[in-house]
Amino acid sequence: MSLVDSNAVFESRALAIGISQDTVNALGLRGWVTHATFAFSAPHKKEAEPKRTREDPASNKKNAAEAAKLKRLRRTPMPKQLRGGTPCDDNGKPYCFAFNLGSCQNGDDCKKGMHLCCKKGCGKKHSYVSAHKGS
Ligand SMILES: [Zn+2]
Ligand SMILES: [Zn+2]
Repeated sequence: MSLVDSNAVFESRALAIGISQDTVNALGLRGWVTHATFAFSAPHKKEAEPKRTREDPASNKKNAAEAAKLKRLRRTPMPKQLRGGTPCDDNGKPYCFAFNLGSCQNGDDCKKGMHLCCKKGCGKKHSYVSAHKGS
């Protein structure tokens, strides 16, 4: 592709996506006439962003799975008494609802979740109902 051809292609494309002829001309005057010259105007860009744009299917898939899991956890319906609380912390670790209701008989290694306050931003070692509901 000759420079003239790619100029023409760029120009018609720019016009097609709504960039005015004036802008195209201005870009041309400044020497940013093609995508190629635009790209080469920042020769170190590629090194500055390592791997960011590179596809890594495995990690993308894993991240997507993690995100979905977190989303599902966040959607977990809260018991009525724990309204205002969150089902899990920012890392997706679940709180023990029973502990927050003051009714869990398990120790701190409870399998249902962490024995910490489920109130958003609290996370202290007390049950939600005893610390935030009065009575
Ligand atoms: Zn528990
Ligand atoms: Zn609390």
